[in-house]
Parts: sequence; C-alpha cells; structure tokens
Amino acid sequence: ADEATLDPWGSSTIADYRKLFEQFGIEEFDEVLPEVPNPHYLMRRGVIFGHRDYRPVADAMRNDDPFAALSGFMPTGDPHIGHKLVFDEIIWHQQQGGDAYALIADLEAHSARGLSWDEIDEHATNYLLSLLALGFDPDEGTLYRQSDNREVQDLAFELGAEANFSELQAIYDFDGETDISHMQSVVTQMADILYPQLDEPKPTVIPVGPDQDPHMRLARDLAARMRYFGVTEAFASFEADGVERTLLRQAYDAREEYAEDADRPRCGEAADWLRDHQPAPADARESVVAKLDEAGKEPLRPRIRFLDRNATDAAFEALIEAVDGEKRVYDEHIDTFDLDHAEAEELARQVELDNGGYGFQPPSSIYHRFMTGLTGGKMSSSIPASHISLLDDPEDGYDKVKSATTGGRSTAEEQRKKGGKADECPVYELYAYLLSGDDDEFAKEVYDECVGGERLCGGCKEQAAELMEQFLEEHQEKRAEWEDRLEELDIDLDS
Ligand code: SF4
Repeated sequence: ADEATLDPWGSSTIADYRKLFEQFGIEEFDEVLPEVPNPHYLMRRGVIFGHRDYRPVADAMRNDDPFAALSGFMPTGDPHIGHKLVFDEIIWHQQQGGDAYALIADLEAHSARGLSWDEIDEHATNYLLSLLALGFDPDEGTLYRQSDNREVQDLAFELGAEANFSELQAIYDFDGETDISHMQSVVTQMADILYPQLDEPKPTVIPVGPDQDPHMRLARDLAARMRYFGVTEAFASFEADGVERTLLRQAYDAREEYAEDADRPRCGEAADWLRDHQPAPADARESVVAKLDEAGKEPLRPRIRFLDRNATDAAFEALIEAVDGEKRVYDEHIDTFDLDHAEAEELARQVELDNGGYGFQPPSSIYHRFMTGLTGGKMSSSIPASHISLLDDPEDGYDKVKSATTGGRSTAEEQRKKGGKADECPVYELYAYLLSGDDDEFAKEVYDECVGGERLCGGCKEQAAELMEQFLEEHQEKRAEWEDRLEELDIDLDS
C-alpha cells in the first residue's frame, strides 16, 4: 500500500517515515532541534525524528517555565529495549526540569488487549522497576495506574462528552463490534494526556512511536473543544493596565456586527445555523476539512465537529466565511495590541480559566523510530529472539546479540572492500540507540569504521554483546534495589 497506516493497536510497521510528514503533518525534529537546550542523544542521532508542536516545550525548557512530559505503558509483556527509549525520554524531560508522569495503562491493556488483571499486575510492576532503575525520580514525578486515578476518570467522562462514535470509528476504524470498554479506554487515554494540565495549563509532551499518532491528533482536538472561549472573546473581556478596554470592546462589537450585518453565522453559532438549515451526509466532516483546507483556512475543530451530521455546499460556504470573519477580527486585535499569537492564546486561556474552564494547551508529541528486531523485521514482544527484554538474563542478552542479523557483506574480503551497511544493521542500531549512551564519538566511530570496511561483524558483535551483558547486569542490580523500596512509593500496584 502506498498509504502509511497508523494503527495504535495493530502491528503495522512504518516503512517510510517521510510519508508521515506529508500525510499527517508530523514535522521533522531537526527543524526544532537547535531550540532544545542540551538535546538528548536520541534527538541528536535522529532516533527521535518527528514532532508535533514541540516548540512550546523547548521554549519552556529554555525559559525555566513549567512544562510536563507524560507517557503511558501498556503492561502487556516484559519491558524490552524498545520501551527503554520511552523511559529515557520521560526521564530526560524530568531531568530538564519538567513534571514527569508515567502511568500504567491497565484499562487499555484489559479492554484493548484482553489481559487478565493478574497478568497486568505482574507486568505493571516490571515496567515500574525498569523505569525507576533507569533514573525516574518518583519523589519529583508522578506515577499512577489509570484505574486508580479518580481525577483521570472524571476528566475522561467530560472529554467523552466532546467525542462521538462516528469520530472514533473514523480515527480508529472501530465498528459495530467494538466493545464499549475499548472506547472508554480511548477517552481515558485522552484524559491521561491532558491530566498534567488539570491544575494549571502548561506545555506537555507525550513521547510516542508514530503508530500512536491517532491518539495525539484526537487529544489535540479534544483539548481545543474543551475551550469555550475564542481568542476574540478573550480580547473583549480582558481588562488590564495599559490595555484599552474600549478598544477591545469595539473590536468585539465589530465582530458581532460582521456576523449580523451579513446575516452570517458567528463561528460559535455556525454549527447551530447548519443544523437548522439542512441535514447532510454522514461523511460531511471529511469534505468540510478538505474544503477549508482548499480555501487555505485552518479547519477550526469546534466548528467542524458538528458537521458529522450537518453539511451542504451552502453550509460549507457559510462556515468558511465565518472563519474568515473571525480571522479578520483576530488579525486586527493582534495588530492593535501588538501581541503575537502565543500571547493572544495565553490571554484566551486566562479568560477561560477565570470562567471556570480548563484552558488546556494542545499537547505536543515527539516520535521515535522503532527499533529493528535482532532477527530483522520488527522488534516484537511476542518474538523473544527479536528483542532483548530488560529482564533477560545478561548472558542470554549476550547470546542474542551474538546471533543477531547484521548489515555485513557475505565475506570479510567484500566487507573490507565495500564496507558494511550500518544503516541496515540491527547491531549498529543497538550502538546508536543504547550501547553508546551519551557518547556520540563512540557511535560515530562504530559507524565510520563499519562503512569504511575497517570493522568486521564478528568483532563488532562481540563488542556489542559484551556491552549489552554489562548493561543488563547493571540495570538488573538497580531493579533489585528498587524492588526493596517499591512499597515506599505511593502507588498501588495491585488491582
Ligand atoms: Fe553491523 Fe557492526 Fe557488521 Fe557494521 S560491522 S554491519 S555495524 S555488525
């Protein structure tokens, strides 16, 4: 298929990351990298290859402003070296001053993967131990289980009121057979993503694999829908020293006038207007987004969500005009008060908070590459030889690396002449993703020696295998230390 598919519960491999940039609007991480202070080695080496709106997080990091990072772990098996990437990302954000959250997605594991609660309890403990052993600070960070967190459950309920079945169907390919618990686990996950902002809105990053992007798109949509004040309303009701309230009022009135004069719906009312006017086809949402897109308009979510049921050509036009009208007023305000977009957004958020709203910022995400399996193909929890579990006996870890597929040539002679194919080599990935740690020089040396033909696979694998054995030994010692301390932590591991 030439379309990249993203299925958070499937086993699809993303063959071509580039397609993600084009199809889903994920941006290249390199573009924001210079703005990140002390970037993590996974960022520097392009393992973290994409992002959605990471800039506010980078800004907060540079300015010592509050920000958060959150990740959920579905306890469906033992944590392996692929999961370590996410552990590292959360821990790194915590070390950069962020509020770090790690949660056990037990409801999702139970409803989407059908695991029993006993299995979940066992795996949950294993995930936590590895996270702690790798450096997560539980005193500074937050650990919780989805099913135990009442605030998350309440927020999930609120968010659920903003999403409907046809939408989940479109995003996740749900059908009439999909059980309700699975849908419930989706809104729970949305609540997890927004949970760090419950007390105070702040930039929040969710490190994920690209297959999790559908969750991010929905979470960003829902965050926007929970806002019932537009930026223009915020301008109008904003009172502060040095800001002329009359001017604001005038601008607000202008916007009202614009809507009334031309008998055009205000954006917030567009949906009602559409509903009153004509019924429409079920797939209208898609067309509206496309139409707005064509017209170069931002498809403002709160307005289009109603269009699942309501759309005609006339309605499209009205909607586009309404968006236009709001944009005009918005631009005028921005000029008048010499604000940039972020400041205007902040203003809107403040007004919303003052009025009892959440003021959520759309959550950001970063995307990492999947590790290739040691046997080639995808690294999979269900194929033991394809991955190294963080619980593997260190000697088994050594053996697995020794038997891994490589990007080497068929003979040593050919390898010396043409060089190895490090870019296609799972062993090189081990060096780049894990074994070199923060040492870029070492990773580069392995790469250069490989492609330059100075490095042969036998010795290269031996070195990697020894490093892996050492890593597992150290990791498991730290796990054992945490095992004794688990009870001190304020997290209930039993369901
Ligand atoms: Fe892979 Fe090392 Fe062989 Fe290069 S020399 S192909 S990095 S195993």
